[in-house]
Amino acid sequence: MRFLHPEPAAGHPTVHPVFIPFAGCPVRCVFCSQEAQSGTSHMCDNVLAAKALAEIAQLAPAGKSPVELAFYGGTFTALPLELMETFLSAASRLKEQALISAVRCSTRPDALSMELLLKLKALGLDTIELGVQSFCAEPLAASQRGYAPETAVQACHMVREAGLTLGIQLMPGMPGMRKEHFLYDQERCAAIRPDFARLYPCLVLEGTALAELWRKKLFTPWPLEMVLELLPEALLNLWRAGVKIIRMGLAPQKGLPERILDGPAHPALGQILRSRALFGFIAEKVRASGYGEASLALYAPKRFQGEFFGHRRELAENYAGIRLDPEDVHWWDKNCFELVPIQGFLPRKSRK
Ligand code: SF4
Repeated sequence: MRFLHPEPAAGHPTVHPVFIPFAGCPVRCVFCSQEAQSGTSHMCDNVLAAKALAEIAQLAPAGKSPVELAFYGGTFTALPLELMETFLSAASRLKEQALISAVRCSTRPDALSMELLLKLKALGLDTIELGVQSFCAEPLAASQRGYAPETAVQACHMVREAGLTLGIQLMPGMPGMRKEHFLYDQERCAAIRPDFARLYPCLVLEGTALAELWRKKLFTPWPLEMVLELLPEALLNLWRAGVKIIRMGLAPQKGLPERILDGPAHPALGQILRSRALFGFIAEKVRASGYGEASLALYAPKRFQGEFFGHRRELAENYAGIRLDPEDVHWWDKNCFELVPIQGFLPRKSRK
């Protein structure tokens, strides 16, 4: 039985971030700490513009393409129009010189209009990452996001209709979120089929309103075990829908570990989730193979050798449990997997 890895075609451009901490944000969300996530804090528009333009001017990664310039850490589409125009024209000059391949920004679902999106597209913006966080009313309200699920869905469609590339960020475990909310969120995200998504399990970060709630025992983050149980299935579901998942867990910024007070943080989170999702996929293939009780061998693409058995080979026993002894996993140069019975196999028609 031959099959491919369920992940959509690999390959995501290197992103060069220019942080605009809290710029344009109508409120400071309970879980957000740009100090922890980007190593920067709020600054006035003039300082922000000078800093961002200096960073853009220094960006000359020619030859290392594709590199995208990203405005992260704030609500880009709620900046004063003049500032958006200044940033995008500086970025466009780099694009014209082929020093960057594209320009993206992150923003909130309630900070968009079709008119604005078309204007930004004409100014050179290519991609919008929407900090949706959830498509469910309860967690959105409990986290005081200030918009309804419909707004989030409409924003996704609007970005698409404007001809921009769409990214969606989800936050499993945010305040007010139960397991069933996240199951709905990942289904909704799969149905929308953004070009890519990020999954950021909610952490309690020093300096946030959430940290105060946590100290008063009014908020408890999801335990790591729950994230490790729920996200692999979501990842597989999103892969199957053709959605690339470009990050799981916060980027390891300098100073981040010291600011994490509680929550499902793990330095190898992405690798653990990817490996578990692949295990779930291969277990399905084994069940569907019709190889009965036969012991199995698997030929697998070399590029998955590092992650196949999971973090510290945690999945070796699980594979043995589906009759795939780790010694019978072989690495080859082909791009596909091949599952074969190696003993005790009776063809279907010989079995009763
Ligand atoms: S989560 Fe987004 S909208 Fe909320 S404060 Fe942070 S950057 Fe601003």
